[in-house]
Amino acid sequence: MEYRKLGRTKEKVSVIGMGCWGLALSRDGGEWAREIASLQRGIELGMNLIDTAEGYSSGRSEELVGEAVKDCRDDVFIATKVAPPHLHYDAVIRACQDSTKRLGVSFVDLYQIHWPDPGVPIKETMSAMEKLVQDGLVRYIGVSNFSVSETNDARAALAKNEIASNQVEYALTNGSVEADILPYCVREKITLMAYSPLAHGRIVPTPNDILQKYNMTPAQAMLNWVTRNERVVAIPKAANIRHQEENASSIVVRFSAADYEKMSVG
Ligand code: NAP
Repeated sequence: MEYRKLGRTKEKVSVIGMGCWGLALSRDGGEWAREIASLQRGIELGMNLIDTAEGYSSGRSEELVGEAVKDCRDDVFIATKVAPPHLHYDAVIRACQDSTKRLGVSFVDLYQIHWPDPGVPIKETMSAMEKLVQDGLVRYIGVSNFSVSETNDARAALAKNEIASNQVEYALTNGSVEADILPYCVREKITLMAYSPLAHGRIVPTPNDILQKYNMTPAQAMLNWVTRNERVVAIPKAANIRHQEENASSIVVRFSAADYEKMSVG
């Protein structure tokens, strides 16, 4: 596995992480165990970045992550998110406390604002985020689905901390962030965390000559392409352990610039 620095921090996160939206949809024992096994296999293969949210499966995704990492907490980097209804000061603090309880951890590594809410002053939300850092419940602050100007406002609202990452949709099928958010993140040394990097499972074909040259599957090629910029990490979701293994080995070789370009144009 390859690792990249998170934002301007010294923290190293795996270039391919594990998304947890859609995990723990039910409490069905077999399904739950299968999903935990997939996460644990990913950790074994070096995927230390795990992304969840208080809003995923009504908090059960965080519970499932907690169970998966209970014997290896120090080896993983847990990113979770506060939902838009909880962006006022007291609600942020409470939401984070609740997340740590569901995760069974004493702190989260990265706490992200899931979506911006223009109805709540960003200064108020960020004051709470900084209080969480000060109290040791959170190590780094991130945002998600923030435009360039919203990210600028979020940075200006922080007194002592920096925005480490912006989690946005980015895939071979949707490269819109390349117009503004990605160049901004590169310039400002903010990690761009690519969500839905496999287009929600709608894997698109890559020219056969490229797949054969690098011995990759189409899904692996999508992950390789989306992480070709050194500021990007991706968080595919894989409940299926075979998919997890495939994703973990998607960047063992890098494609040539010409092949990436060929993929970009389809
Ligand atoms: P995704 O990762 O693009 O796609 C997931 C789908 O791809 C699942 O159906 C999965 O199947 C399948 N898959 C995984 N690996 C595969 C492989 N090697 N070959 C073929 N199929 C494969 O979609 P996503 O869940 O929307 O996004 C990933 C993560 O991003 C989420 O889990 C969440 O953490 C984050 N996210 C964040 C936001 C936000 O607003 N911040 C929004 C959406 C998503 P199996 O599960 O059966 O393995």
